[in-house]
Amino acid sequence: MPEYVGAIHLHTCYSDGSGTMRDVTAGARRAGLDFVVATDHDTLRPAQDRWEGWRDGVLLVLGAEVTCRFRSHVVVFGARDVESLMWKPLRRVLFDLGNQGAVAFVAHAHPASILGFSMKAGELTDWEIAGFSGVELWSFMHDICDGMVPWRVPSFLRGWPGRVRGPHPDAVAHWDRLAASRRFAAIGSLDNHAFPVPLLGAQILSYEEGFRTLRTHILAEEFTGRRGDVARVLAALCAGRAFLALDMAADARGFRFEGDSAGRRLAMGDEAPWTGPVSLQVRSPVAAQIVLRRDGKPAAEASAAAMEFTADRPGVYRVEARLEGKPWVYTNPIYLRAAGASAECGAGSAECGVPATAGKLHAE
Ligand SMILES: [Zn+2]
Ligand SMILES: [Zn+2]
Repeated sequence: MPEYVGAIHLHTCYSDGSGTMRDVTAGARRAGLDFVVATDHDTLRPAQDRWEGWRDGVLLVLGAEVTCRFRSHVVVFGARDVESLMWKPLRRVLFDLGNQGAVAFVAHAHPASILGFSMKAGELTDWEIAGFSGVELWSFMHDICDGMVPWRVPSFLRGWPGRVRGPHPDAVAHWDRLAASRRFAAIGSLDNHAFPVPLLGAQILSYEEGFRTLRTHILAEEFTGRRGDVARVLAALCAGRAFLALDMAADARGFRFEGDSAGRRLAMGDEAPWTGPVSLQVRSPVAAQIVLRRDGKPAAEASAAAMEFTADRPGVYRVEARLEGKPWVYTNPIYLRAAGASAECGAGSAECGVPATAGKLHAE
C-alpha cells in the first residue's frame, strides 16, 4: 500500500484557531503534506460549508473535537451531529457517536499546563470505555508547551524545538496495557491553533511550522484524487496502519515495520493468530536507535537502518526509533494473539464504520 503523510488535529477560525481553511491547506502544501485533518471545537460547519476534499493539492479531512463533561475532549470523524453532544458525559457521547456511525479517538493523551490554563486530558481509564478506536498518543503542542508561562513566550518562540520530549510515558504504558487485549490505534496530533502573539508579530507555531513537526504516516489504498480518499485516510487511521514520526528530526518516509506469519504478510495494525514463530522486519530511511518492544518491554535493540527479529511467542509487537537519543518514530503494533486469547477489536471496522464495540454501550 502506498504511504501518505499528514498532520492531524488543528483548529481554524471556525473555532479558536487563527487561520482559515485556505491558510491550512496552503501551509500543508508548502510543508509537503499529502493530507491534513482539521478538528474544530464542537462544530461541523466546515463540512457543511463543503471544505472537505482536495484543496491546493492537499486532501483536507474534516473531523471535530467534542468537549464532554469535565472538559475531556474527543476527536471524532464521520459524525452527523456534534453540537448536541457538548458537555454530555463521555459514555453518552461515545454511545451517540456510535449510533451516528462515527469514529472516536482520545484527544491529547496527557494533560498540560499552557499559559496558566490547565489543558485537561481525559483520565487514562477513560480510554477503556467502549467506543474509542484509538488515541492521540503524542500531542505535539501539549508536549512542547507544557509548563509554558506568559513571560517565557519570547524564549519559547526561539527555543521550542529543544522542548520536544515525546509522548508521555504514562500514556504509552497505558496504551500497551490496552493493546494487550484489543487493537487500539495510535495517531499523532498537533493541536495547532496558530495562536498570534501580540506585540511580537509571531505565532505559536504557524500552520506550516506545525506541519513540519509531528506527522502521522499512513499506509492506505491508493488515492484517486477524488473525495473518496477521505475514507481511505480514516480507514488507515482506525486500523492503525500508521506510524507517528517527528519529521523535523529526519523525514521518516519509508519507515516500515512488517512481519511474515505462515505465508501472510503483516503490516502495522494487523492482528494474526499465533501459529508459530513470526519473522518481523524493521526498515528505516536513516540509521536510528531502534527498539522492538513486546508487550511494552524491549525485546531487541539495534543502532542500524534495519532489524530482523524472530518472534518466538505471542505478544503485541511495536517499534520505537530514536535519533541521537531523541524520540523520532512510534509505530502501531503487530498483534500476535495466542489461541483462545481475547482479540476483541476495539478499532472500527476496516471500512472505518461503526466501532465494533459501540453496540455494547449503555448511555448514562
Ligand atoms: Zn483539546
Ligand atoms: Zn484541539
